[in-house]
Amino acid sequence: MKITEVKTYNLSYPLIEPFANARSWSKARHAGIVEIYTDAGITGWGEGTSTPSQAAIDACLIGEDPFDIEVIWNTMHQRGGSNAAAISGVDIALWDIVGKALNQPIYRLLGGAFRNQIPAYATGLFKKDVPDITQALMDEAKGYVDQGFSAMKMKIGFGEAYDVKNVAAVRKAIGDEIILAVDANCGYDVGTAIDVGQKIAENDLFWYEEPITTNDVEGYVEIRRALNMRIAGGEGLQGRWGFRDLIQKRGYDIVQPDISIAGGFTECRKVAAMASANHLRVLPHMWGSSIRLAATLHWQATIPDAPQALNPIPSLFEFDMTENRLRTDLAKVPIQAVEGYVAVPQEPGLGIEIDRTVLEKYAS
Ligand code: CA
Repeated sequence: MKITEVKTYNLSYPLIEPFANARSWSKARHAGIVEIYTDAGITGWGEGTSTPSQAAIDACLIGEDPFDIEVIWNTMHQRGGSNAAAISGVDIALWDIVGKALNQPIYRLLGGAFRNQIPAYATGLFKKDVPDITQALMDEAKGYVDQGFSAMKMKIGFGEAYDVKNVAAVRKAIGDEIILAVDANCGYDVGTAIDVGQKIAENDLFWYEEPITTNDVEGYVEIRRALNMRIAGGEGLQGRWGFRDLIQKRGYDIVQPDISIAGGFTECRKVAAMASANHLRVLPHMWGSSIRLAATLHWQATIPDAPQALNPIPSLFEFDMTENRLRTDLAKVPIQAVEGYVAVPQEPGLGIEIDRTVLEKYAS
């Protein structure tokens, strides 16, 4: 089989209601989509936070065998001048092609699933332009409990007063049994991150995500030693080299690679192996279209519990609850959280069929 053509699509979806994390307001959602054609009539879909250049496509992909995934990854990285985020979409599309060619879902190509449905945590609870944000957050959090979620994550990093007040309010709204994580989206420096972390710790938080900027290895190590809670991060890191020091120096308790940034299935497996060798947990980050959602499910299904125990800490799947038609409408059959669980797709490849009318509607 040979690759005959590669198309890229930059999708943009305008949000009805903007929302903010600690760093910025979001007014639209974006996705870089890659579609790879072959002479066997099989096509594959991938998503990256950037897409490969035409020069990289011509030099590294056209005429190649899509089964040569590792070789193509290295060629794109070493000679093609592509970063891991641009390779991610290509890598996911190649695994989609191989799965379709072999009539197997990707998780089986990766060695099989430890779980066919994954307990989800609801990602939401952003800052919004509403008169009473505390009441809005409490209502939203209770809504997730009503939908069957046993875990959720809220945004912090808006300053000590906001964080202390609203984390306590959300904890009170959902009760003691629900897992609650917080995410500061790199909004603090080390001293502020520790100070705020000490003040919100009494709310029984499952992890504290990205308290500081992505690459500050020593800062993460300092925060992790200072606080009695799990520290998580890594969603913005690219390639195994990006993760190496943070994993080896124990900057995290939980490593969160994003399959559409870190380098696709091929690179995420290497990052997961490095985390395992250093006794750290991997819980993938997910913030994208139906394609990234499906790819993350396949990969997360193949990550063993760490440590394996009678009652292991659950492998929680990040389920984005914000409004985004690139996630809800791009696949003809939407992937949904049902009673707090998300099923791993069982059809060949990624196991989803793309709706081309939706693709064309949001392509720029
Ligand atoms: Ca995050």
